[in-house]
Amino acid sequence: MYDLIVKGGTVIDPSQGLNGVNDVAVEDGKIVRVAPDIPPEEATRVLDVAGNLVVPGLIDVHTHVYDGVNGNGVEADIGGVRAGVTTMVDAGSSGCDTFGGFPRHIIPNSATEIICFLHICRTGLATTPDIFSPASIDLDKTIQVASENGQFISGIKARMVSPALEIMGMEMPRAAKRAAREAGVKLMVHIGDTEHRYDPNVIRELLPIMEEGDIVTHLFTANPGGVIDANGNLVPEAQEARDRGVWLDTAHGRSNFSFDVGQRILDQGLMPHCISTDLTLPGRQRTVHSMTEMMTRFLAMGFTMEQVVTMSTMNPAQAVGVDDRLGSFQVGKQADVSVLREEEGDWLLYDVLGNSRTHDKALAPVVTVKRGEVYEAGWGPRPWGWEPDRA
Ligand SMILES: [Zn+2]
Repeated sequence: MYDLIVKGGTVIDPSQGLNGVNDVAVEDGKIVRVAPDIPPEEATRVLDVAGNLVVPGLIDVHTHVYDGVNGNGVEADIGGVRAGVTTMVDAGSSGCDTFGGFPRHIIPNSATEIICFLHICRTGLATTPDIFSPASIDLDKTIQVASENGQFISGIKARMVSPALEIMGMEMPRAAKRAAREAGVKLMVHIGDTEHRYDPNVIRELLPIMEEGDIVTHLFTANPGGVIDANGNLVPEAQEARDRGVWLDTAHGRSNFSFDVGQRILDQGLMPHCISTDLTLPGRQRTVHSMTEMMTRFLAMGFTMEQVVTMSTMNPAQAVGVDDRLGSFQVGKQADVSVLREEEGDWLLYDVLGNSRTHDKALAPVVTVKRGEVYEAGWGPRPWGWEPDRA
């Protein structure tokens, strides 16, 4: 007997080239079979999801879930298992002086899996601005905390913003890189100076220091320090970084996603790898809303459903280094499943500059399976639920 069959949905699993009606069988928290017409009598529980999409558990590779410490942090499960997302990467909400609460209070109390990137600023994002002096960084303690918490921490996060860059310049991301290499983890760097103050050409110094496996986040930012120069051209270091194996994440957030910048980047041949929210409490209410709405925005930009699913499952699993167990329905992987519905409509999608695109389909979460446990989707972030604005 299986513990669970997710039955009759359209399974899209880019890691195996699957796109068609299939059943997914789960036992002991693992995927044990993907096949059409598995007899329902063979399972203790059957979820009939005919008419819906069934994809490997969505991985949101840039979020903020240090609820109660970082003032804008979201309660993980609201943006996680109750929103169709099975794994959230916390991108630098905590630093070496504040990380301790994560494994004690956040991770064990969340059904959603949480993977942390430790901010190079010792207090993380508990206070703003994050770095306001060289003493905001404690390199030794950052290396120590990251090294001692390898089961929770997959990387070091740095933010290319003012005043950190005005005070420290490139020493700041170099310190973050050193911490990452000494702890044996990845480096994730936020690009785009939300204060609009620092030299926009800083990107050309930053990208060459990023190595294979490191992650650039906010690729479509319109703020100074993004990958498009003043003449509208893609800086050559961006494609060079991608060719080297640097992961490119798009993290929408409240101030770092422009359809026009994204289109210019795509027109010049640079493809991002990951879709993510940069979810915060105000972002969930006002601009980002949800992972499924982010995916809808990429559909509206002309990406195919297969591409959008790849960028929300297989690619982020590889970017974070958890593809041995997540991001795929291969037999033996962790039983993380996202069931999504496609809603027909005349949908209007906004970026952070107020520019919009339209699309005739919107994605919304239905039910989520995490390590074999079933979670119904909650009420969405809008007064009317999960759907975007109507045109
Ligand atoms: Zn962020």
